[in-house]
Amino acid sequence: MGKTIIISNRLPLQINISENDLEVTPSVGGLATGLKSFHQEGDSIWIGWTGLSAEEIPDDMKESVQEEARKQACIAVTLTSEEIEKFYYGFSNRTIWPLFHYFMEYTEFDPEHWEAYKQVNQKYADAVLEHLGEDDTVWVHDYQLLLLPDMIRKKNPTVTIGFFNHIPFPSYEVFRTLPWREEILQGMLGADLIGFHTYDYERHFLRSVNRILRYDINFNAVNLSDRIVKVDSFPMGIDYNKFRDAAIKHKKQPRSENTDIQKKLDYHKYVTRDTQLILSIDRLDYTKGIANRIRAFGYFLEKYPEYQEKVRLIMLAVPSRTNVPQYQLLKKEIDELVGRINGQFATVNWTPIWYFYRSMPFENLIDLYSASDVALITPIRDGMNLVAKEYVATRTDNTGVLILSEMAGAAHELNEALIINPNNFEQIVDSIKLALQMPKEEQVKRNKVLQRRLKRYSVEKWAQDFMQNLRETVNTRNEFK
Ligand code: UDP
Repeated sequence: MGKTIIISNRLPLQINISENDLEVTPSVGGLATGLKSFHQEGDSIWIGWTGLSAEEIPDDMKESVQEEARKQACIAVTLTSEEIEKFYYGFSNRTIWPLFHYFMEYTEFDPEHWEAYKQVNQKYADAVLEHLGEDDTVWVHDYQLLLLPDMIRKKNPTVTIGFFNHIPFPSYEVFRTLPWREEILQGMLGADLIGFHTYDYERHFLRSVNRILRYDINFNAVNLSDRIVKVDSFPMGIDYNKFRDAAIKHKKQPRSENTDIQKKLDYHKYVTRDTQLILSIDRLDYTKGIANRIRAFGYFLEKYPEYQEKVRLIMLAVPSRTNVPQYQLLKKEIDELVGRINGQFATVNWTPIWYFYRSMPFENLIDLYSASDVALITPIRDGMNLVAKEYVATRTDNTGVLILSEMAGAAHELNEALIINPNNFEQIVDSIKLALQMPKEEQVKRNKVLQRRLKRYSVEKWAQDFMQNLRETVNTRNEFK
């Protein structure tokens, strides 16, 4: 059996150049963090972009960039700043991302962006073909590379290709508005197996294929004239043991070794003993419902004033796609909302919202997950949401309450959480109250079930499951021939 070639827009590492030195840091985001363990353990190479534009890399450093990537079995694809603008910020993040998350009012249909999307997908396809050996398996990831499976298949008709979409696939009525809907579907159908996080996304895709391309669908398979493409759902898990072990270690470590954030959390717990902490962590993205969440928290303090000075919202918003206007506007809106609520309710001893606009290293995430009594995760739309799963996994004493939007893919697996509709303010504030008052035994009962499930279907299992299904699909294809 050959190696696996993983392809995603971004590599799991990010490279920066400062004063003629290369700085390598891990990438943030569900896909990178989730797949990293699969990549580290298996015989695979990972092809993707480092986050640097071609213009930012001096000629004499081009080889060192590849060298750094190679150290982690990665191959860097270089994108020019124009490609980044039109392919990444343009078509990927101003067309596909908003459309697939049902934000039609944010969706732009720009033919120039579409051209760039095709060209850059071809660039990734060329990089794959350059490294493709006999018996290799190709695993393409996510919405930036929807055309890639077919581009690879055209050059190499017998290669085994899997494709996984990490964001929602919208209903046919929304998808059909895309001017390039046929090309996108054909691109994806180059794969042997197409995976989604949920059954609903899978059905939306199959319906679009049937209505738009008129191909026959047989249960979860698309019958092409020369091949069968299988479509299935594989809800992505987390590296459960990594989070669990880190949380156990965190609990045992002497105070002197605590991080600065942990020391601050301890101090505040000490001076305001009966204060409960509510945690919110996401990339700053309009799909995550952050502004509504802050409004709901303000409304909670108004509706249940007995909780003033007794509860604090810790909000970590990770900077994301800062070149796209909607993200800049959202940042401004959030800054103002946090200011307004803190201004309205703060007392000399208490600030209702602690707001961090940055990304945090793994240890600090564990600090926050471990310290928080409630996690409030209220996306308007979210393909999966790994933060919800990570919060549950780190609760070593099994306490803690997860409030989760029904619009997150993760809600399908996490029924024991308090599931809310992110547009229903009354329901959100009442769930916050319910969470803060929930007896410990009830918390433990719910979390034990959740943890068992997360442990069983970890990211490792998810990857194995996908790969096994891919192999079976291809075996059936070959027998059928
Ligand atoms: N994360 C991180 N640093 C941070 C905040 C979050 O590495 O400062 C990670 C977090 O642990 C999670 C991922 O980013 O694994 C976010 O994934 P999720 O599915 O929740 O959302 P996405 O960003 O993929 O939409």
